[in-house]
Amino acid sequence: MLENKNTPKTDISSLGEFGLIEHLTKIFTIEHASTIKSIGDDAAVLELKGQQVVTTDLLVEGVHFDMSYMPLKHLGYKAVVVNLSDVYAMNAVPSQITVSIAVSNRFPVEALEELYEGINAAAKKYNVDVVGGDTTSSTSGLLISITAIGSAKKEDIVYRNNANDNDLLVVSGDLGAAYLGLQILERERQVFKVNPNAQPDLEPYSYLIERQLKPEARKDVPKLLKDLDVLPTSMIDISDGLSSEVLHLCKQSKLGCTVYEDKIPLDPQVITTSEEFNMDSTTIAMNGGEDYELLFTVAMEDFPKIKANPNFSIIGHMTQEKEGVHLVTRANTKIPIIARGWNSLNESK
Ligand code: ADP
Ligand code: MG
Repeated sequence: MLENKNTPKTDISSLGEFGLIEHLTKIFTIEHASTIKSIGDDAAVLELKGQQVVTTDLLVEGVHFDMSYMPLKHLGYKAVVVNLSDVYAMNAVPSQITVSIAVSNRFPVEALEELYEGINAAAKKYNVDVVGGDTTSSTSGLLISITAIGSAKKEDIVYRNNANDNDLLVVSGDLGAAYLGLQILERERQVFKVNPNAQPDLEPYSYLIERQLKPEARKDVPKLLKDLDVLPTSMIDISDGLSSEVLHLCKQSKLGCTVYEDKIPLDPQVITTSEEFNMDSTTIAMNGGEDYELLFTVAMEDFPKIKANPNFSIIGHMTQEKEGVHLVTRANTKIPIIARGWNSLNESK
């Protein structure tokens, strides 16, 4: 953690549990008419229309994040964003979240204030009310659990298991940047250990680092699809890497799939930085993870509505299950897609 020795450090115990909760949560405001009762009672009370979607994520220090290159404000922001991404992946709109933390006394109140500033920034940006949570102590490290609640009309909710043979496979944005951002941050940390006065030029990697430290969820995609009058047949968000998410859609929809290497969207910084690290950019896009783009299938007849949209890339199509799940390379060879995910990619270093 980059600690500034001059800032005051208030011990958590000096506020007490209730004092701490009140102190941290006073920054939140309520924006939704559907929030009937927020923080302060035994439970929050909501009045939502349609069907509700509920999703939870648990983030553990040392497993999901590393405080040495993740400022707490960014961590709070990212914790909310990754959770909301799951709501958008159901083609629903999030409206409330709860935030639970377990924290050791090595964290001063000021550190938690920073965390909550990040949470509040994301809540404002994505228009969700923070309506509750829980606070407890931890013997080591920090744990954050966020639950998001959203809603959609019954007929608009998109599941993983409804894709059809011949549907087009589409992805938003571009892939692989968040993984490379982490590699850059790790490299800079090692350089800093050896030479604390080094002044790294991170400009060539700005997009990659931003994708790692301040990811955004594709809030715009459900709306874009609605405006295009396209209802995906299946959808999932890309948290673990394209390979793993394609396999989830295939398994749940009982289908196969063909993905074309030359159609996978890559940012120019991903291409140049992969070369610099002597890594294959397709491998990174397939297995990198943490991109939080949306992967979905649409009926072939929706092709004209999707094809020219700069937000979307058509990267393949669904097949019968017996055809299997394959990547067709630039050299036109067919290789099976297997689940690796970003964890195994990290371990293979
Ligand atoms: P209880 O004993 O019923 O669990 P708490 O004292 O833990 O109640 O919480 C009091 C109120 O503060 C509740 O509305 C709860 O949802 C909210 N709350 C507690 N911890 C947090 C937190 N870390 N972030 C946001 N709200 C919280
Ligand atoms: Mg409680």
